[in-house]
Amino acid sequence: MVIDRQRYDESRLLDVAHLQFDIAAEHLGLDPGLRELMRAGQREFTVRFPVRMDDGSIHVFQGYRVQHSISRGPAKGGVRFHPEVTLDGMRALAALMTWKCALLNLPYGGAKGGVRCNPKVLSPAELERITRRFTWEIAPLIGPDQDILAPDVNTDSRTMAWIMDTFSILKGYTVPGVVTGKPLEIGGSLGREAATAQGCVFAIREAAIVSGLDLEGATVAVQGFGKVGFHSARLMAELGARIIAVSDSQGGVMAETGLDVHEIRAHKQATGSVVGAPGTASLTNRQLLELPVDILIPCAIEGQITADNAGRVRARILAEGANGPTTPTADDILAERGVFLVPDILANGGGVTASYFEWVQNTQKLFWSEEDINKKLDSVMTRAFHEVYQLARSEGVHMRTAALMLAVGRVAKAKQLRGVFP
Ligand code: GLU
Repeated sequence: MVIDRQRYDESRLLDVAHLQFDIAAEHLGLDPGLRELMRAGQREFTVRFPVRMDDGSIHVFQGYRVQHSISRGPAKGGVRFHPEVTLDGMRALAALMTWKCALLNLPYGGAKGGVRCNPKVLSPAELERITRRFTWEIAPLIGPDQDILAPDVNTDSRTMAWIMDTFSILKGYTVPGVVTGKPLEIGGSLGREAATAQGCVFAIREAAIVSGLDLEGATVAVQGFGKVGFHSARLMAELGARIIAVSDSQGGVMAETGLDVHEIRAHKQATGSVVGAPGTASLTNRQLLELPVDILIPCAIEGQITADNAGRVRARILAEGANGPTTPTADDILAERGVFLVPDILANGGGVTASYFEWVQNTQKLFWSEEDINKKLDSVMTRAFHEVYQLARSEGVHMRTAALMLAVGRVAKAKQLRGVFP
């Protein structure tokens, strides 16, 4: 089967996910029935629920939980709060979680959930009521052995505490393992907060080694200054790299001599944005992606590097802290231009890997040291990086296709071994 690229609209994340999957499935020569099953995903749940707002009015919110696969273990994935949350977007992101967990060899399927809302205009009390009611609505689907939630865009450890509390009240006993990314005091894990970034930096370290780039003094631009963006910038700076530019949804800041990421964070905490931090020049998010840096780390949202701007990306290594920032046509352009891509399911897999560590600790009622956790995370990331890199070389495909081939192949194998019921 030849893939007809015209049939995919790359401005839609679901089409991007389907095309990425189809390319890998084609390389693997996957059976058509299995292909259809794995492409579509298993379960989808849409909920509408009322929330009393601070002004006394009632607002109806819409939310989703998509379980793309439970073939290799419980469904696993984040929950996001964003005005652009759609069912199709959740389908794409849930599939990415299935591939990510399989690539990292975690005993999970993949899921994603979200509520369509704008957290920037909601009070903490409103956010809490939305979180609790959403949890109540999806409660029949979730649990430590069914589907385990985690932070994602605009959600954090506080959100996870509310979810865990609501689910536990429903059950009548405390169920820490229904969410990961919890606060430490209620069963969270050391190292989880910075784990996505830490994993990304481990992968960048390996990419730098195989491409002969010295990280000491290497220049870096980071798009997005949330948990993943900030910690990636911080950890890269700790390795001796120079952070030239960072940005958030309002815009970006740069300084050729290097930014102090802690000062930028303090500015963002005080003003709500990195923009205007003292001693920096302003630039747009678009401009940041085109800077002549050694390493570019997009850590914001999907659809950032497309056919329009991929030809102007000048980084040597592009590591996707975000999910889905690059479209398939952009992948080809980047590969042609020699940009070394560390694809999302590999680059940001440290988050769910640490989630897995947290869940194992919860299940065993044990606590591991931060040193132990980071050592384990390093070994998972390093092994996955080299598996992908070797396959990319031996098959002559780019890193994303290699990563997906490994992941899709593992899920296909699980499905084959389990067979078809009845
Ligand atoms: N939301 C993160 C991701 O996209 C973490 C998911 C998890 O830990 O379950 O990978």
